[in-house]
Amino acid sequence: MLYFREMRYSQVFPKTQREAPSGAQSINHKLLVRAGFIDQLMAGSWTLLPLGLRVVQKINDIIREELNKTGAQELLMPLLHPKEIWNETGRWEGAKEIMYQFKKDEKEFALSFTHEEIVVDLIRKHQVSPKDFPIKVYHFSTKFRHELRAKSGILRGREFLMKDLYSAHLTEKDMLKYYHEVIAAYLKIFKRLGLDVKVVEASGGVFTDKHSHEFQVLTPVGEDTVFYCDSCDFAQNDEISKVKEGDACPKCSKGKIKTSKAIEVGNIFPLGTMYAEKMGAFYTDNEGNKKPLWLASYGIGPTRILGTLVEMFHDDKGIIWPESVTPFDAHLVEIQNSNVKSQNYNSKLKNLANDVYEKLQKAGVEVLYDDREATAGQKFADADLIGIPHRLVISEKTSGKIEWKERTKNETELLGLEEAIKRLKKA
Ligand code: ATP
Ligand code: MG
Repeated sequence: MLYFREMRYSQVFPKTQREAPSGAQSINHKLLVRAGFIDQLMAGSWTLLPLGLRVVQKINDIIREELNKTGAQELLMPLLHPKEIWNETGRWEGAKEIMYQFKKDEKEFALSFTHEEIVVDLIRKHQVSPKDFPIKVYHFSTKFRHELRAKSGILRGREFLMKDLYSAHLTEKDMLKYYHEVIAAYLKIFKRLGLDVKVVEASGGVFTDKHSHEFQVLTPVGEDTVFYCDSCDFAQNDEISKVKEGDACPKCSKGKIKTSKAIEVGNIFPLGTMYAEKMGAFYTDNEGNKKPLWLASYGIGPTRILGTLVEMFHDDKGIIWPESVTPFDAHLVEIQNSNVKSQNYNSKLKNLANDVYEKLQKAGVEVLYDDREATAGQKFADADLIGIPHRLVISEKTSGKIEWKERTKNETELLGLEEAIKRLKKA
């Protein structure tokens, strides 16, 4: 991990802001902007500020770690695509609603909204032999989509980050075997991110005429509607589903069908042979027959996850980050006493806080240190807004010790540094 390990809040750009931007409707929009994690350039277009990028990098690391365990390899593909490659599968026309297409010097291009065609082109160009399969490659990159409604904060961007994985196989059986490995990997990823997901059957959209599987977080603020069984794992998106609330479950017949709004955080597609057939990605089997490759693709939206975490974990004071992706493990707050006339007293306090800051770093704790000249009220409000799970206060009242407070609790405790480090390392 190369991202910065420690930080003095006096140096962080930008600082928190008191008011949510006018027009912001969703919680993730309001809180992430106020806390200084993201900034909006125009509808659907966001800057990940240093704090926001740090959370997304942690989300990405979790995804990367679990995908690498399945044998997938990371690469990075271009975002500017020639029209010709999209014409090979008919998606220049078929997906033109969602694609940003444009002309420059008489040549036509699209900005990437996905990469199936690019991956199939890579494979066919490299003259792979049957021994080379399966091929599993993924990247983290920007996707551009002409979304009609881009109003749910960072949940729906016109330009957003996606991790997309593609796998190519000789047989359907092998594709389905890996497809199920990826479902298991996704479930681990979402569990580590602190998100409870349902695996939901859905249509394949502009990707395939077959069904797909979505990973949905049930919440009233979601844009999707899902039906699910209260007793088994049956779940369908309402766009395809024939069931309705209160029905007996068509799968287990014991349970009842319930419904909920949901946020789609991942979507995987068993694409079949259509892409390989249209683009001429074949291999020759043992009997000398030409056979098309089987393809599947698998998406997760890290920036949508950033917003989803805020929708799921917040209170009226601000964000509450899960331990696994919190931008820092600890928020160290130093409170100067404005009533104390003696400069000497306050500079002693500062030395103590600096010392604690350094010792925490040496112990491997990622710490945000609020070293500003500001009131206790302002620093505490900012700590609650930013949402780091552990707050450590050093003030006149703590007399050489540390006041420990969890973001989700009201009680405080006085601890020695050793004990605080022990707890932070366990978290
Ligand atoms: P939706 O139904 O929400 O429009 P989608 O089904 O079109 O999304 P996919 O093509 O399945 O999206 O993309 C894979 C993943 O990328 C989604 O599960 C989601 O996490 C993320 N994603 C898709 N569209 C957006 C977007 N506009 N902004 C942010 N993340 C997105
Ligand atoms: Mg989808």
